[in-house]
Amino acid sequence: MMGVTDPVVALIRRRLRHTRELVAAAAARAGRSADAVRIMAVTKTRPRAELDAALAAGLDLIGENRVQEAAAKLDPPPAHAELHLIGHLQRNKARHAARLFHAVQSIDKAATAQALQQALAATGGTMDVLLELNTSGEPAKHGFAGPEELRRALEAIEALDRLRIRGLMTMAVWSADAGAVRGCFRTLRRLFEELARDRPAFDTLSMGMSGDFEIAVEEGATLVRLGTALFGPRAAAPPAQART
Ligand SMILES: *Cc1c(COP(=O)(O)O)cnc(C)c1O
Repeated sequence: MMGVTDPVVALIRRRLRHTRELVAAAAARAGRSADAVRIMAVTKTRPRAELDAALAAGLDLIGENRVQEAAAKLDPPPAHAELHLIGHLQRNKARHAARLFHAVQSIDKAATAQALQQALAATGGTMDVLLELNTSGEPAKHGFAGPEELRRALEAIEALDRLRIRGLMTMAVWSADAGAVRGCFRTLRRLFEELARDRPAFDTLSMGMSGDFEIAVEEGATLVRLGTALFGPRAAAPPAQART
């Protein structure tokens, strides 16, 4: 077990406290309550020990972006943690994902949702999902290409009784232009508000990462997904070629 004096726990706890202050300030600027914003610890590329340290530091919501990496890391599953998949889900990994995660934030095709439904029907389970919108237009990003595509899929996914659609998710454009980033979040929030009007289960707007979560909170995020802000920078990818 990890003690409260563990230095990694202490470091994460300090970063979490600072992050909570920034979230509270951003919420206040928008006339929102900081209690309306959940902080997710994104543990991709981090070892299990750091995930456990995050839980010991007071976090209770964990995000992983690859099924395979998560499968190795989450065995045995941590107690008292809510686990979400936040990366692209391939249909052939749906069964695996349904076993590992409590929710999938990155539904970007009706077919993926149908595969999850089938997996859950076999086990008798249910799952929360979010639909991901590509608000940046960047081809490297996943998500429905636009609101119309998302709405069409939403109708099909709403017919799946093992999935509860809780809201929407996006990654903003990768840009130093704060106005462009804000525009992505605003697009998602407007669509969310429209859809939530006649969907009482819609309560989650997942947007904002370490570089842009304050803007996301100002624009209405109810869940921010933070890796770097809590754990420090991820190791750079290894160079393609050894240096000579
Ligand atoms: C990696 C990742 C994050 C967190 O990124 P940071 O910039 O380290 O906070 C959030 N959301 C998704 C979908 C990610 O893949």
